[in-house]
Amino acid sequence: MVEKRRCAVVTGGAKGIGAGIARRLVARGFWVAIFDRDLVAGQTTAAELEHRACFFQVDVSKEASVVDGIAAVKHTAGRIDALVNNAGISDPSSGPIETLSLERWNQVIATNLTGYFLCSKHALPLLRQQAGSAIVNIASTRALQSEPDSEAYAASKGGIVALTHALAVSAGSAVRVNCISPGWIDTGDGKLREVDHAQHPAGRVGVPEDVATLTAFLLSKDAEFITGQNFIVDGGMVRKMMYAD
Ligand code: NDP
Repeated sequence: MVEKRRCAVVTGGAKGIGAGIARRLVARGFWVAIFDRDLVAGQTTAAELEHRACFFQVDVSKEASVVDGIAAVKHTAGRIDALVNNAGISDPSSGPIETLSLERWNQVIATNLTGYFLCSKHALPLLRQQAGSAIVNIASTRALQSEPDSEAYAASKGGIVALTHALAVSAGSAVRVNCISPGWIDTGDGKLREVDHAQHPAGRVGVPEDVATLTAFLLSKDAEFITGQNFIVDGGMVRKMMYAD
């Protein structure tokens, strides 16, 4: 059993935004349980965080896998103080709806929305035992605005915003539940052009640390009067009108 450090579960914490959140929470004194299906990246990220993190191979879309993961955290840490639901299929484009298969629709919803439900459901009994515990759900600005051919992803992200306020009201004072909707966050996959940065009112594309900073705040005592909300972290893009010249 690890020492009595506060424990945070971060899903999709092997890489990208989730890894950024895991690093930030470790810096804030949490012991972090990384849930991810990517074994190699998960082990690498956990190793980098040394004894302050542990990797658990969990498929958040499968209830048995989530149950096993939460049981493993309970066995290892004895508590859960924070849950960050972040694991998602991060490719918004699923093609025209006329050709969108039911299988692909179900796959996106199962990971991006049902996974958040399952992890919340099974972590909640442990979260309720800790004073000041909280959940942060990572949605997307695509809950609010769209490009063509992204119905499954948009629906999953809109569902997360609604799941957040529903669960916040159900959990009441026991567990605060908030949502972050990131815009374009560079996770190191592609080459960014100057125009990519310049189009943002804030002057740049986001980085995982931008999301991690707000996550850490929402999990902290400083945010004890904040629950059921959705916070946009997008460099101002949803506030920018984009009519053609
Ligand atoms: P990444 O693909 O870099 O990381 C997501 C991680 O989640 C991967 O390790 C992935 O594994 C894992 N994962 C996917 N499905 C499952 C599953 N069923 N069970 C367990 N782990 C799973 O994504 P990002 O860091 O870019 O995105 C993280 C979250 O932020 C997502 O919810 C995304 O929708 C959201 N978001 C991202 C934005 C961005 O611009 N990056 C913008 C707005 C929202 P694997 O690689 O094997 O799939």
